[in-house]
Amino acid sequence: MSNRAYNFNAGPAALPLEVLQQAQEQFVEFENSGMSLMEMSHRGAIYERVHNETEQLVRELMGVPDGYKVLLVQGGASTQFAMVPMNLLKPDQAAAYVATGSWATKAIKEAKLFGEVAIAASSEADAYKRIPSLDELNVPGNAAYVHLTSNETIEGTQWAEYPDTGDVPLVADMSSDILCRPVDVSRFGLIYAGAQKNLGPSGVTIVVVREDLVGAPSMTVPTMFRYDTHAKSGSLYNTPPSFAIYMANRVLNWVKAQGGAAGVERLNREKANLIYSTIDASGGFYKGFANADSRSIMNVTFRLGSEELEKKFVKDSEAAGFVGLKGHRDVGGLRASIYNAVPLSSVKALVDFMGEFARTNG
Ligand code: PMP
Repeated sequence: MSNRAYNFNAGPAALPLEVLQQAQEQFVEFENSGMSLMEMSHRGAIYERVHNETEQLVRELMGVPDGYKVLLVQGGASTQFAMVPMNLLKPDQAAAYVATGSWATKAIKEAKLFGEVAIAASSEADAYKRIPSLDELNVPGNAAYVHLTSNETIEGTQWAEYPDTGDVPLVADMSSDILCRPVDVSRFGLIYAGAQKNLGPSGVTIVVVREDLVGAPSMTVPTMFRYDTHAKSGSLYNTPPSFAIYMANRVLNWVKAQGGAAGVERLNREKANLIYSTIDASGGFYKGFANADSRSIMNVTFRLGSEELEKKFVKDSEAAGFVGLKGHRDVGGLRASIYNAVPLSSVKALVDFMGEFARTNG
């Protein structure tokens, strides 16, 4: 399909063309059933197979060990900001958070509704241009968990290496980098991610949680906000977002065909390196926002010499078929989101455009 835009949207974001085409083929009638998947009971055999296979694909591709539940829930990662403290925090405990940027700040704000929050480390003084180093972490003795944001979508920073928090469960928001690289799940107590960047369309949120953390919460928690509700029912306590889960299933199968997390990581690093080396070789025309050691391979943030020039970059890029390169209003500048499904050809087109723009405006 030749009229596909060079899509660098931050989320919802580019999906694999093959997945969209397959969904199109299966849209009106699913597997000779006489109806669309969206018209079927979520208690029926056909949907149940799609549902269970999706959970299995998450297990397989993330290498989820025994002793963990994989939940498919709704409400986005923003609902997890509340569900994590509601379910994991006990009286007399503190919730420890690493303040790395815009999304960590939202998670912290929500946790404060439910109890004491300790900031284990923060890069606020450096305008969130970096991920704190592992030895900066200061976890209080009464911490229920340590929460980090694996990839700060807005600032364009990413943890290169995760901290070892010993017996204190590590909780990670992986909304914008889940399955972009292999991760050792056994090091985490809980991982959550909204689907709409690396896993599919919006509407479903993946939670991978160690079984010992799925228990009765110590505070009053509405049924839908309890992990044990979803764990006991195989994520079928109520009507699931069946179409979003079907799409996630197809995206996960696509990731598998790319060689799984290791396969997509190779391509992700190649894509990120192309853009970062264009920035670094521009003689200061492009300036990376994140410190070099904290650069994200999912969201590349950069600035130009003036806001006027940045506006021109956005305008000219749009005229050339690029979408989504304007940075988030909190940080300004420019951002190229290069999730798993953004093809190398789009990134090559972008670095060509960046080179040309620097030559004509430098
Ligand atoms: N965390 C991160 C790192 C994000 O990038 C986002 C969405 N951009 C969220 C949380 C919020 O996700 P949702 O919109 O699914 O609530």
